[in-house]
Amino acid sequence: MTGSVARTVANDRRPPPGPAESARRYVNQWTEAEALGTERVSAFVLILRTRGCYWADVKGCSMCGYAKDTLGRSATPEELGLQLDAAVARYHDEPYVKIYTSGSFLDDREVDPASRERLVRAFSGRARRLLIETLPEFVTEATIPPLQRAFEGELEVAQGLESSNPDVLARFVNKGSTPAEYFAAADRLRAFGVRAKGYLLLKPPYLTEDESIRDVVASVGESAGRFDTLSINPVHIQGGTVVEWLFRRGRYRPPWLWSLVDAMRQGATLRGNARLVTFPTAGGLPRGPHNCGRCDSRVLAALETASLDQSFAGLDDLACACRETWATDRILEPIGIEA
Ligand code: SF4
Ligand SMILES: [Zn+2]
Repeated sequence: MTGSVARTVANDRRPPPGPAESARRYVNQWTEAEALGTERVSAFVLILRTRGCYWADVKGCSMCGYAKDTLGRSATPEELGLQLDAAVARYHDEPYVKIYTSGSFLDDREVDPASRERLVRAFSGRARRLLIETLPEFVTEATIPPLQRAFEGELEVAQGLESSNPDVLARFVNKGSTPAEYFAAADRLRAFGVRAKGYLLLKPPYLTEDESIRDVVASVGESAGRFDTLSINPVHIQGGTVVEWLFRRGRYRPPWLWSLVDAMRQGATLRGNARLVTFPTAGGLPRGPHNCGRCDSRVLAALETASLDQSFAGLDDLACACRETWATDRILEPIGIEA
């Protein structure tokens, strides 16, 4: 895959500048199961409509289709305020709040500094933990302390590290930052007293199933000391991405759930003090991580229990006939490239 194809795909999927009425509506909101320590809680999830990730314009990551959820221009402070007001009307004091932007919450082009403070202050004293996402270069003295002052509670900042292998990250995921930059930003977060969360990608394109398990397990081991939580995110096929281009031509299969089970079991032995979780998107569906269809819901339930309770024993005795197929396929995929 050449860089020019990736660039074209990234540009194609961004919408034209949006009208005022779409800028007043957030992309989505829902609640989901989460945990604070050993306590299961409900999390309030909000996706704001902003200009989205600048990297998607420059090159774009091979599996990321979030540009379609953006405004095509920066939202004004007034527009972000209207999105916030609509979201707060649906907020019922869930203890965990997650604010996503399909990019970096800390990038001034997506959310201006005053709006950032207003957004987190709206949940201050009501949520116990508030999560945002960002690329590493935006974790600075200018962005973090103001949010700490505005939010009375625990701040958590997530970064899409994806892989601790620089070659996998640069060549297969197409990220613009190196693992060292993600690690340094995690160190800065902890120095500020902020929780650091890292996403690790299971099965970037061009790796076999087997190579991808080894890559994500190695990434857990190499990242565990830098992050408070590591989340293994198996690839699902998003529209307008390089991964979809390969999928449509029969050259990419989303990861098996067995691979995720294997990665979680191995990762659990390497995680140190970090929480290790996985909450797959589109689990059990053709475009998401899946097994044979008969065992998927059972395996997904075991993965959720392991993630929420940090108890991994339930992953040891899962069984289905399709595990044999997976055991063969994981080393025989047609387009494996050594990382
Ligand atoms: S995965 Fe993250 S860095 Fe990559 S294009 Fe998507 S939002 Fe941007
Ligand atoms: Zn099965």
